[in-house]
Amino acid sequence: MNYRRYAAFGNTFCALAITVILMVVVVVEALGSGLLVRADEVAEEKPERFVVESSRQWEKGTFAVSGSPASLAWMLKPGVKKVLLEDWKLLLVNKENLLPEGYKIETKRLSNGLLVDARIYDPLMEFLKAGNKAGCNLLVCSAYRPYERQVELYEADLAKYQSMGYSYEKACAITEETLAVPGASEHQAGLSVDIVTLRHQVLNDAFADTKAGKWLAEHAHEYGFILRYPKDKEEITGINYEPWHFRYVGKEAAEQIHELGCCLEEYLMLQKILVVQNRTDKTEK
Ligand SMILES: [Zn+2]
Repeated sequence: MNYRRYAAFGNTFCALAITVILMVVVVVEALGSGLLVRADEVAEEKPERFVVESSRQWEKGTFAVSGSPASLAWMLKPGVKKVLLEDWKLLLVNKENLLPEGYKIETKRLSNGLLVDARIYDPLMEFLKAGNKAGCNLLVCSAYRPYERQVELYEADLAKYQSMGYSYEKACAITEETLAVPGASEHQAGLSVDIVTLRHQVLNDAFADTKAGKWLAEHAHEYGFILRYPKDKEEITGINYEPWHFRYVGKEAAEQIHELGCCLEEYLMLQKILVVQNRTDKTEK
């Protein structure tokens, strides 16, 4: 076989191999999106819960969304307006969904100097104003954190633990118990704020029992915000309960998330189900 023929054979082989790989990817994707909702089956046993099954990364195993089957049925109704997954308000940031290095947004400054994504400024002001009117004395203590700042914080903690004699791996693990790896902090997206009060500025569970903590949790959805890391969703979000951390998702999604009693990860998965469901509906007609 001369060189040219050999090269031609190589090209054909490569093309074939790529085709096969692509086909495998398509099949795996199709299987992966086989999200399952078993509402009625479970409803008999536990009428107040439905189970969503999936095999995707952050959707490990089976977990329950604490909404009623009726609210899921409402979500699945063809008439209910579906939220687009590409929507900036529904940006998912967690350990599996990192923001790209150097992620930049247009910011707007709060009166205390902190920055937020300019697009959430007005709804945030409305939210805070309503809370203060209810007598809460709210205080935003953390907002947008640029990528570089997260890197600084992460590296400082890492160096501290390494200087204490921990191996690199162990130092990383300890750092990540309290700090997100660069790209994984929702504060880097500028869509989240930590809200406390003048009297209660410590970020701890006890904040949930304060007047402000209760008001924020009860009313956030009316202004397009959600309590991003609920107590009973720690395994899914991968973040401990944070009664002070609020995330803007827009009024529509916030109302639905509130109604369903789910967290953002679960909500986005339900949206995916809706997309799959819609596709099935269309093909059936
Ligand atoms: Zn926070």
